[in-house]
Amino acid sequence: MIVGIPKEIKNNENRVSLTPAGAHELVQRGHTVYIQHTAGINSGFSDEEYEKVGARILPTIKDVYAIAEMIIKVKEPIECEYNLVRKDQLVFTYFHFACDKELTEAMMRSGSVCLAYETVTDKQGGLPLLIPMSEVAGRMSTQEGARFLEKPQGGRGILLGGVPGVKPAKVLVLGGGIVGTNAALMAAGLGADVTICDISLPRLRQLSEFMPKNVKTLFSSSHNIEKELPTTDLIIGAVLIPGAKAPHLITRPMLKLMKKGTVLVDVAIDQGGCFETSHPTTHAEPIYEVDGIIHYCVANIPGAVPCTSTLALTNATLPYAIRLADLGWKKACENDPGLKNGLNIVNGKIVFPAVAEAFGWKI
Ligand code: NAD
Repeated sequence: MIVGIPKEIKNNENRVSLTPAGAHELVQRGHTVYIQHTAGINSGFSDEEYEKVGARILPTIKDVYAIAEMIIKVKEPIECEYNLVRKDQLVFTYFHFACDKELTEAMMRSGSVCLAYETVTDKQGGLPLLIPMSEVAGRMSTQEGARFLEKPQGGRGILLGGVPGVKPAKVLVLGGGIVGTNAALMAAGLGADVTICDISLPRLRQLSEFMPKNVKTLFSSSHNIEKELPTTDLIIGAVLIPGAKAPHLITRPMLKLMKKGTVLVDVAIDQGGCFETSHPTTHAEPIYEVDGIIHYCVANIPGAVPCTSTLALTNATLPYAIRLADLGWKKACENDPGLKNGLNIVNGKIVFPAVAEAFGWKI
């Protein structure tokens, strides 16, 4: 198959959808891989590294879309790419169609086959192509929280782990899923005093089995959360109710219960945020203050660490990309119902019911 890797052009997107190692795998299996000039550069991969493993470099994004049977990307195509996507072309990437009608209609018009990372499932019903980015965001949330607790960054001037003779900081993690677990592990590793809240008792049981001693579990209720606020230094919001907006676990009046300079990191901002006072921010301006409380609400946290994020993402996507290239999308999806769940649009028609429902359309 002819595989094309365009350079990501969405604002501040530095990841690339295939590493030289991935290109090597595909080339070895007899596929032809075209990489747009400098597509990998912001993730640490030069054109020469791709060429060394047998991939070919094309100068422009147009050239890549014009020749490829399968396009592998990271983010959804943006407006200037809509007309480059061709009939019958397979596009394998994050799409998030349900929140973008214009993109959905453009991809329907293109007649392409859109296989979305975010709806591919594994045998346990999990989302294997979303997990790596939640892992990155969870780990980053602690790192960013620690940074904004520093005095020169506007925080209270607290070191997460303390030192011998000085108590560590208190970290409250709301939601004990992938993001929350990774955030808590990082905070615990730095020596903080960590509490992790969830509404799922089975999940809290699991967490208490494998978390280190400096992580306690607490059932998530507004009463329990309120009691933690006066003594907490860093709060990480990591809740998810699939398909719904995140619940506001911390309301504006609750900010008054916190110490000035407390840091809130709202990782759930892409689902609307779990603090009432959250609004999306960017890596260029990641924080703002409300009632003396610092809010960090970056919607694409993994974008700050493209080298790590690219490797984490492609570790998960490559096995699927190989099967799609080897077998073609029809046969690959026939063999794997989880991969088939990734099909959102096929030759102009929506085949993923939730996308049609989001716009009130029938399929
Ligand atoms: P997950 O499904 O693995 O975990 C969510 C957890 O929240 C579950 O354990 C669930 O029981 C718990 N929960 C639900 N309601 C709760 C409540 N009221 N109180 C406490 N816990 C509650 O999800 P995840 O992969 O960890 O993702 C968490 C959020 O982070 C999602 O909104 C996801 O989209 C977002 N995310 C954001 C970024 C970013 O860059 N900002 C990156 C990756 C993920």
